[in-house]
Amino acid sequence: MTTLNTIGRYWKKKYGEKVYKIPISISGFTCPNIDGTVAKGGCTFCENDSFAPNLEKEKKSDFKLHPDNPNNPLLENQLLQLQAQFENTKEILTNKFNAKKFIIYFQSFTNTYAPFETLKALYEKALSFENVVGLSIGTRTDSITDEILDYLAKLNKTKEIWIEYGIQTVYDSTLEKINRGHDFANIKEWILKTKQKDILVCGHMIFGLPDETQEMMLKSVEESLKLNLDSIKFHPLYVVKNTILTKDFKEGKFTPIDEELYIDTLVKSIKMLPPDVSISRVTAGISDDSLLSPMWCNNKHCQMYNIKMALLKENLIY
Ligand code: SF4
Repeated sequence: MTTLNTIGRYWKKKYGEKVYKIPISISGFTCPNIDGTVAKGGCTFCENDSFAPNLEKEKKSDFKLHPDNPNNPLLENQLLQLQAQFENTKEILTNKFNAKKFIIYFQSFTNTYAPFETLKALYEKALSFENVVGLSIGTRTDSITDEILDYLAKLNKTKEIWIEYGIQTVYDSTLEKINRGHDFANIKEWILKTKQKDILVCGHMIFGLPDETQEMMLKSVEESLKLNLDSIKFHPLYVVKNTILTKDFKEGKFTPIDEELYIDTLVKSIKMLPPDVSISRVTAGISDDSLLSPMWCNNKHCQMYNIKMALLKENLIY
C-alpha cells in the first residue's frame, strides 16, 4: 500500500501539524475574461458565485478592479472584508478542529488582476494575521506579471507562497471551445517563469471538457506535469445554471462526464504523479439546486467514498 502525498500530508510533515486553507472572496475583483479585456462572459462553465461561498451578495460592488487603473475606492472595505472572512472561518475551524495554522486562499475571480498596490496591501494584510503561514493565490496565466512574480518571490522567502493556475487542458482547440481566452503556450510560459522564481505552483485540471476523450485528458496531465508542478487539483466539469454551458447542455450539444469515466481517469492520472507532486483536490461538486448536471456531482461524500475505494483497489491510500 502507498499513502498518497496529499497537500494535507505535505503540510503536516512541514509544520508538524495540520494546516487549514481559508478561502477568501474579495468584492471588486473580476477577470479579464469577463470584463471584456480578453473576452466577455468568461469561461463557458463560469458562474462565479458557485466558487465563492464567502462572497456576500449584498457587499458586491459595481466597481471592478483593473490592473491599469491605480484607483481603488474599495481598498479599505476590501481589507475589512479580508479580516472578517478570515476571522469568521478561523473561529469555526478553531472551535471544530482546534486548528492552529492557516493558509489564506484568494479563491474567486482572478486574484492577481488588480492594481499592484492593491495586491500588495491585501497579501501583506493576509500574511500579518496570527498563525497564517502562507498564501495561495488563484489566478490565470495571462494575468500575472514579472513585477508580481518578483514581489511574491520576496514574500516566499519567509512565508509559503502558492500560485494556483487554471490549466484545465493542454489542447488549444478545447481552450477555445470553453472561451478560455488564452492558449497553452501562455500557460507554459508563465508557469515556467513562476517556477524559475521558486514560487510554488498548483495546476488545476478539468476532466470532461467538451469533446475531450480520456486519452486527451491523460495527455493534459502528462504535459502539465512536465512544467514541474508542485501540486495538482482535479475537477470534473459540471453544469451550473446561468452559464454559457447551460445552453449547450440543454440543446444536447454537451454531455457531462460520467462518474465511472471520471474516476478511472483520475486514478490513471494519480498513478502518473511523481511522489513529490502533492494532490490538492480529487473532485468537486455542488450540493445546491444551481447544479444542472451531472447529478453525481451533488454529493461530495459519495464522490469521495467512490474515489477512495477505486484508489484502494490500486493499493493507493488517499
Ligand atoms: S478564469 Fe475563472 S473567473 Fe475568469 S471566466 Fe474563467 S472561470 Fe470565470
